[in-house]
Amino acid sequence: MVLANKDQHGYEYNSYIIDRFGRPFTIMRISITHDCNFECFFCHMEGEDPYSKEYLTPEEIGIVAEAASRLGVKRFKITGGEPTLRRDLPEIIEEIRRRAGAEDISMTTNGVLLEMLAKKLRDAGLDRVNISLHSVDLDKFYKITGTRLLDRVLRGIDSAINAGYKQVKINMVILKNFNEDDVWKLIEIVREKNIVLQLIELHPVGEGRKVFSRYHTFLDELENELAKIARMRIRRELHNRPIYYLDGGGAVEIVRPVKNPLFCAACTRIRLTADGYLKPCLVRNDNLVPIRNILRMDISREEKVRLVIEALLASNSLREPSAYWRIGYEFEKIVYRYLGNGSPIQSTPRIRIEIPKRLTLPNVRYIFGGNGEKPGHVEKSVTGRGNVRYAIEDL
Ligand code: SAM
Repeated sequence: MVLANKDQHGYEYNSYIIDRFGRPFTIMRISITHDCNFECFFCHMEGEDPYSKEYLTPEEIGIVAEAASRLGVKRFKITGGEPTLRRDLPEIIEEIRRRAGAEDISMTTNGVLLEMLAKKLRDAGLDRVNISLHSVDLDKFYKITGTRLLDRVLRGIDSAINAGYKQVKINMVILKNFNEDDVWKLIEIVREKNIVLQLIELHPVGEGRKVFSRYHTFLDELENELAKIARMRIRRELHNRPIYYLDGGGAVEIVRPVKNPLFCAACTRIRLTADGYLKPCLVRNDNLVPIRNILRMDISREEKVRLVIEALLASNSLREPSAYWRIGYEFEKIVYRYLGNGSPIQSTPRIRIEIPKRLTLPNVRYIFGGNGEKPGHVEKSVTGRGNVRYAIEDL
């Protein structure tokens, strides 16, 4: 289904497609390589197969971006591997910009090559950049990345600021008993440079799965501390992220993917893997849609765009919130935590999430199968099969 919509201020959104849980598809995350010059021991590798090296060309990426744009997608994120290792990166950015009429192109990078590339990529049409930096301590930086290139990353951040990006953000994955102290050092850096720090909860995907039990920590305590020093807090619809604005400049965002049903509920993405698959979800590989063959068929460009549109529609129909798929029974308990009271329903066979057919949260709904009891607000809509719909307001 394709929708045109207005937000609460009356502005019209682009038409976009929604999945069967009512979640719009508005962002395409494009991985362009599996190669990397760092060896971060927790890397999720975007949930991709790092050994597959048959990468799409800039032209092929442009076809996929154009197909997505015809379904309403105007925002693109480039990732990897380390995307700056591709020499044709400026061409990839130009293709996305030109073919998709992109309104926002961002990239996540380890920043090592940015000193050299920041201006060139900005000129090619890159709007925003996220630079991963998990520690400002030389030894810890080495233990995490396997390199001693901290200085170059710091210079890369300055180069990005000087190149005039719309936003420069530092991405930091929080590792229990390892880099939690660095948060406060990084807060000082973003305050001074007036940029954004994004604190990311460790995700049990890729290498992250192997080290999860040792390094994972929930970010609640950190957030409480942050709330004490922040000037203002708002919540963005993307992944329902809180953002804390700091006195004196800069901001801190918190990304909590683990055991957070709202993370999935607010997902608006389909991914393109470096080797040419559409991937509806970071944490799953059982629902990929292959498109590399389409892109390499002996047919016209327009025919390829149309076939990729079909593939995107198929991929969109496979999108589903992964929280329940990942953690099953635990998920129910979390939902109950949000709902506020009551003990988990033993007999509940299945939970799925539905959000309203518009971009803005916070009205997130959960639909329970089984005989639901009532914790929290019950939005009295009982379906024929006895399902109860709960609504959560203003989390
Ligand atoms: N090489 C680039 C970089 O370092 O930013 C792009 C690829 S990296 C996989 C993309 C983002 O995922 C980075 O911000 C990184 O910090 C984050 N990331 C990697 N592994 C993660 C994990 N296990 N949990 C949460 N975030 C992770």
